[in-house]
Amino acid sequence: IVTLAIESSCDETSAAILKDGRQVLSNIVATQIEEHKKFGGVVPEVASRRHIENVQQVVQEALDSANMTFSDIDIVGVTYGAGLVGALLVGLSAAKAISFSLGVPLVGVNHIEGHICANFIAHKELEPPFMCLVVSGGHTHLVEVKDYGKYEILGQTRDDAAGEAFDKIARAIGLGYPGGSKIDRAAKLGDKQAIDFPRAYLEKDSYDFSFSGLKSAALNYLNSKKMKNEEIVIEDIAASYQEAIVDVLVEKSVRACKGKGLKTLVLAGGVAANSRLREKLEQNAAENGIDVKYPPIDLCTDNAAMIGCAAYYDYKNGRVSGLDLNAVPNLKIGKHMG
Ligand code: ATP
Ligand code: MG
Ligand code: FE
Repeated sequence: IVTLAIESSCDETSAAILKDGRQVLSNIVATQIEEHKKFGGVVPEVASRRHIENVQQVVQEALDSANMTFSDIDIVGVTYGAGLVGALLVGLSAAKAISFSLGVPLVGVNHIEGHICANFIAHKELEPPFMCLVVSGGHTHLVEVKDYGKYEILGQTRDDAAGEAFDKIARAIGLGYPGGSKIDRAAKLGDKQAIDFPRAYLEKDSYDFSFSGLKSAALNYLNSKKMKNEEIVIEDIAASYQEAIVDVLVEKSVRACKGKGLKTLVLAGGVAANSRLREKLEQNAAENGIDVKYPPIDLCTDNAAMIGCAAYYDYKNGRVSGLDLNAVPNLKIGKHMG
């Protein structure tokens, strides 16, 4: 089965061609990061316009670099949520047009399920069941992947997502957007014990997360330093702040694996690129006999290949969408709405 997949939920326009769900023949990503940098974050209206300008060319490039034409396509997979509604609609409209004109099935994909499926591409031997920590710009979830296309959410953030927490403090200390990778880099030169930032573990058995208290603590720290006219060391703030986020992510995901008796822990989403998270999780998991897997960085951040993989398994599970499929900005994991 040859899948054409399209992703446009945020600030990346992407198209990919896959064979049998896990073999990526092409994965073209047109990122708008430079464009949104000057605003300090993604501007939804700008994102939609750029998607419109880019989508056709990105799809054509995906076909070209896979050495294929439209007539080779068996199914069209597309992100229909979660994401920015105007951005989603561009990819969705393109996918519908292609599906309709070729007379091939349309498969609407949940973006976060796509992030999880990036691991099936990166690790050919990986099979459910396993535990997945989804940490992206807008989501922080602990998900038990029971089978292909079968997800159970064990916990999630009650306020900010992990990526959001990275981005907001990066902006406050002048590292700019997108902040996660910049904090990661600065932290390598800093002392992670320099500042004792709070860790929110919540109730004893909870798998939920909360990062807004940590964010406030960091902003208060910055303000008080400024008022006292004291020098701040950006590298130390980055390292201490990153450590606070990583500590909670590691504790909860290892505990979730133990609680469910799972021996494989998989990372997904943009924050899975964080080097300290990978390092600490691997160390902690190994002590508990748990194997940690994560995708390479280009499959951690938004891309259409991961959407194509999710579409393949949705299709095999009989989930095909109608041409009336709509964008669902707040689509939840495991809920199919079309
Ligand atoms: P969502 O998938 O929830 O809709 P998104 O698609 O915007 O949101 P992703 O593209 O998965 O999110 O990831 C982007 C996020 O990953 C940003 O918040 C960015 O700061 C973060 N990120 C990227 N690299 C790193 C890193 N090395 N360390 C920490 N965070 C990182
Ligand atoms: Mg992005
Ligand atoms: Fe994403």
